Amino acid sequence: MASGGEQVLNAGGRETGAEFRVRGLVQGVGFRPNVWRLATRFGLAGEVLNDGEGVLIRAWGAPEHLSAFEAALGREPPPLARVETIERVALLGRARSGEFRILASEAGKIETGIIPDAATCPECLAEVLDPANRRFRYPFANCTHCGPRLSIVRAIPYDRATTSMSAFPMCEDCRAEYENPADRRFHAEPNACPVCGPRTRLEDESGKSFTLESGEDAVTAAARLIACGSIVAIKGIGGFHVACDAGNAAAVSRLRERKHRYHKAFALMARDVAMVGNFARVSEAEAALLQSVAAPIVVIEAAEDRQALPQAIAPGQSSLGFMLPYTPLHHLLMRDLDRPIVLTSGNRSDEPQCVENGDARRRLSGIADVWLMHDRDIVSRLDDSVARLVLGAPSILRRARGYAPTPIRMPDGFADAPRVLALGAELKSSFCVLSSGQAMLSQHIGDLEDAATHDDYRAALRLYHKLFSFTPQVICVDQHPDYLSTQWGHALARETGARLVSVQHHHAHIAAVLAEHDVPLRTLPVLGIVLDGIGLGEEGELWGGEFLLADYRSFERLARFAPVPLVGGAKAMREPWRNAFAHLEQFIGWESVAARYAELDIVHLLRQKPIPALVRMIESGINAPPASSAGRLFDAAAAMLGISPESTSYEGQAACELEALAATRFSGDSSSYPTELAPGAPLTLQWGPLWNALLEDLANGVGRANIAARFHRGVISGLTAATRKLVESHGVSTVVLSGGVFQNRLLLEGVCAGLAQSRVKVLVPRSVPANDGGIALGQALIAAARSLTETSASLDRDAKRV
Ligand SMILES: [Zn+2]
Ligand SMILES: [Zn+2]
Repeated sequence: MASGGEQVLNAGGRETGAEFRVRGLVQGVGFRPNVWRLATRFGLAGEVLNDGEGVLIRAWGAPEHLSAFEAALGREPPPLARVETIERVALLGRARSGEFRILASEAGKIETGIIPDAATCPECLAEVLDPANRRFRYPFANCTHCGPRLSIVRAIPYDRATTSMSAFPMCEDCRAEYENPADRRFHAEPNACPVCGPRTRLEDESGKSFTLESGEDAVTAAARLIACGSIVAIKGIGGFHVACDAGNAAAVSRLRERKHRYHKAFALMARDVAMVGNFARVSEAEAALLQSVAAPIVVIEAAEDRQALPQAIAPGQSSLGFMLPYTPLHHLLMRDLDRPIVLTSGNRSDEPQCVENGDARRRLSGIADVWLMHDRDIVSRLDDSVARLVLGAPSILRRARGYAPTPIRMPDGFADAPRVLALGAELKSSFCVLSSGQAMLSQHIGDLEDAATHDDYRAALRLYHKLFSFTPQVICVDQHPDYLSTQWGHALARETGARLVSVQHHHAHIAAVLAEHDVPLRTLPVLGIVLDGIGLGEEGELWGGEFLLADYRSFERLARFAPVPLVGGAKAMREPWRNAFAHLEQFIGWESVAARYAELDIVHLLRQKPIPALVRMIESGINAPPASSAGRLFDAAAAMLGISPESTSYEGQAACELEALAATRFSGDSSSYPTELAPGAPLTLQWGPLWNALLEDLANGVGRANIAARFHRGVISGLTAATRKLVESHGVSTVVLSGGVFQNRLLLEGVCAGLAQSRVKVLVPRSVPANDGGIALGQALIAAARSLTETSASLDRDAKRV
């Protein structure tokens, strides 16, 4: 605010002052130099600075110039900024000088400005491809509008000294760009060039420099080796990848064998959208997502002929995951190749991706033939994000590079929330920091069952603690006592004195969707349908197919999938036949199935299993806990159709392959299997009629793809009917769909279509994953809502006492 005592000195009354407060993603994105350019354009005097709330501008000039400046602020932000609000107040006094100046940050105020890593901008790419430019073929060119951010930052304030670029003192030319407010590289902390910046190097297995052919650099040599069938480890922006020619079936198979990754689809990188279009049916919206600054892997329907890409790229799938080059290094590499490459994480099976050179030499030995290294350290491991179009708009399936740590603005009612740290679940783990009206969801970290992932999780937490100057008042965990994140949360709460709050798994899924759709704290209850593998319910039950009437604070379970035993406990997660058996035994009776359908493959397969022992387990309840799991229902159906019945090699494999099979007949076969909604509290969806119809179809030789489609339709109509009934009986106006099983697009779009006529608003996950990767956000909001309720309740009590 201006000091009110000063005189307005503009003699003609023409010059006036205004203060602009800009909020949103405005720090670390070149916002101040952009303001400087606009102010200079309109002949304004004054200053701009960053502070704890965003960007503050004080400007003086003719009233019409100030208004034009204000309009331009909102209309012409720098590419990576996201302006949420611009507030203007009149300013007394006058400019300290006739100039417009960029001021250093106000002392003592926290300035974060940590934004996601961004794909190379068109200007930088043009320079890298221009033989006359000093950055010609330089793999690390970047500017204020693009380049590494979260992946290189160690602490705040965000400047070169606190990033892994501190090892590279800027040369005179780079320094001049860095200090010139008119330059695109003004205060671009990772600014670099071939003289002063990081360098690439091609190494062989022994760590020695690979001998280049004449005229080659490390990147052209890597491209040549890929084209010849080699497997090349490539250090990227957030970790190591391993790459091979996607059109070379032998190389792809060799990569699968060396990585011990036999089924899960490989991601691909193509030079441009046109190249993707040779192999997949790219819509305009998908092209836009591929070319966005986040540059995620986009899951796109494969073209029918796939133009000679081997099946081993994505076995059993009808879609392919493509991304475009997002650093100059990737652009240069792809310019030398005329086919897409496999670009999969540089790790062994399920371990986290390597980030450190020495570690990559050791752990990728035996996988890669050569290593394309560079000498800039990766501070935070950031996997490639994954997204896909659902109902015509993007939905994020894995949120990491390019998206984290973009803050999510908290809905109305949460302004006074305490500082919350929510620790997520167990698989696809991430955590969430809630502070100053914003929620920062960490990047996808991985499955905490893996010890190395657990170390990464703690390192990321320490970093966020520093970056957001954050000490939690409340720590929030899942109700499941065995999750490492839960145990660790308990320890952390004891250590720090923070309050501990436990949140039910499926309730958190619903709250995450409410939060990202900006549903206010004081909302009427919504009906949340959450379908996933397993989460702990109330009183120790295992849930996973749930209809909950919920707001941010609490929930009531209105309906569920019928609980079916997980025969063999955790083994039921990896061996689909166990679920087929449990479902058949429970809903029809194994003896009856075996007698009526003796010729079916699934019956032959189950006869090989120790049936009497399994029945004893179910009857005695030992190692066969009942679970209302949606994931296991899909596993059971997949096993009956012969889709990896014995074992799966990654989570959700059977369901993914079942969906891909169903998709081939989904529009051509409108038949559906019946289900039954049994009365009670909660209501229960029963699958007996569905399995009877499916077995009949199998016995009558109906095609597997038709059966898969009919199964999907059956589940969709069962879900839709139950939802309609509950919407009506409880007067609900909003339905939320979430949980990992809803990553099945046929299912999600089918349920949405089924609800289209019932006048309810349907909210689906968009910027936060439907799977457990999004759960920490929901946990944080629930913990905050409960704290706020208690605070207002105790204030009410105090008020009454007075
Ligand atoms: Zn750039
Ligand atoms: Zn330089």
